[in-house]
Amino acid sequence: MDFDRSAVLRLAEEHDSFYMYDGRMIMDNIVALHESFEGVRFLYSMKANPHPGVLKCIIEEGVGLDAASVREVMMGRENGLDAGDIYYSAPGKSERDIEAALGCSTIIADSVSEVERIRAVAERHGIVAEIGIRLNPDFSFDGDSGSANKFGIDEAEAFRWLSSWNGYKSIRICGIHVHSRSQELRGGLIAAYYGRMFELAVRFQEALGRELSFVNMGSGIGIPYAECDAPVDIKALGAEMSALIGQYREKLPKAEILVESGRFLVGKAGVYVTHVTDKKLSHGKTFVLLANTMGGFVRPSIAQMVESYTNEEKPAGCEPMYTGRGAFGFVPMTDARDTETVTVTGSLCTGTDVIAKDITLPWLECGDVFVITNAGSYAAVLSPMQFASLEPPAQIFLPERGRPLEL
Ligand SMILES: *Cc1c(COP(=O)(O)O)cnc(C)c1O
Repeated sequence: MDFDRSAVLRLAEEHDSFYMYDGRMIMDNIVALHESFEGVRFLYSMKANPHPGVLKCIIEEGVGLDAASVREVMMGRENGLDAGDIYYSAPGKSERDIEAALGCSTIIADSVSEVERIRAVAERHGIVAEIGIRLNPDFSFDGDSGSANKFGIDEAEAFRWLSSWNGYKSIRICGIHVHSRSQELRGGLIAAYYGRMFELAVRFQEALGRELSFVNMGSGIGIPYAECDAPVDIKALGAEMSALIGQYREKLPKAEILVESGRFLVGKAGVYVTHVTDKKLSHGKTFVLLANTMGGFVRPSIAQMVESYTNEEKPAGCEPMYTGRGAFGFVPMTDARDTETVTVTGSLCTGTDVIAKDITLPWLECGDVFVITNAGSYAAVLSPMQFASLEPPAQIFLPERGRPLEL
């Protein structure tokens, strides 16, 4: 459990519940990717954690942006990114979204009708929109055949449309985007997927009749959540990617290779910190109540709910809501030697806000600080902070140097 304990204890004196994001760990993760993946440009999937301090730290390290909304595009611009550094990819963009994002980002068209909408907006403005196409490829991440999907345009359909799209004066197709998996820990599988992506890019480029300027391979790289999870060997995966880049350099001479990541950069760099507010005995069971669990950090409560509906040893993940058993570490900050078996709940007025049933923890007292790990990605952003009008947890970014930035 790697986090700055003294910073946690210091901040816990001022806040009942808060997130703490560690800028040094985020920078280490970026450096690890950059050192291993030579020739790859990384994009930060900022929907994982849009905290201004986190975003600024990542952008300053030279990472581009994978934006999932117009607001995210604009946050990238406010942090000094050029339109060419921001890739705006999301299904169901409205004409208003397209209007706002055009010229501020590279828009990735997610459907055939969206290509038409982008064309209409660009025509109205008298400009040529340089766009990407999000594809739903004829292969899955695991290497099986493709399947129905709400994301992207089926590969075969996109190929059928290419000659028409090539005739559009207000649109220029410059690249492709695929993202079909999150939280994969098998490096070999990710490398095989990269290989299929290069083949797809070559097929697409040939059909397009023009050199692609980017191939965005999406995310996939997972992080160890549970204690039994082994991390992806980033060096080995980077070496496989470098070999592929070398192999395809002649066929894809102009294409910048893009890889997206949200959780790898920030997931383990954040903790959620709360306090024991009460403790009680009911029908022989001991309950420990924590300040603001489900309302402040919902995923542990969702995990409890999913797991209460199944006896499976390994319930399937459903990212970003549910990852798997044991995806969070519970770290009570106490020197107590005695242990007891407790059920840990929050203080919301609902019985669903339970984060652990019958677990053995060190003896807890009211006022003790309680830390939940793996809270850097898909944590604050997913949590129902308006419920019961509770004070939302603070979000505090600790930069490598300088003063903490608090929201
Ligand atoms: C959410 C998302 C990601 C980030 O996935 P991680 O597992 O957090 O790395 C990347 N690309 C797209 C298109 C996404 O929607």
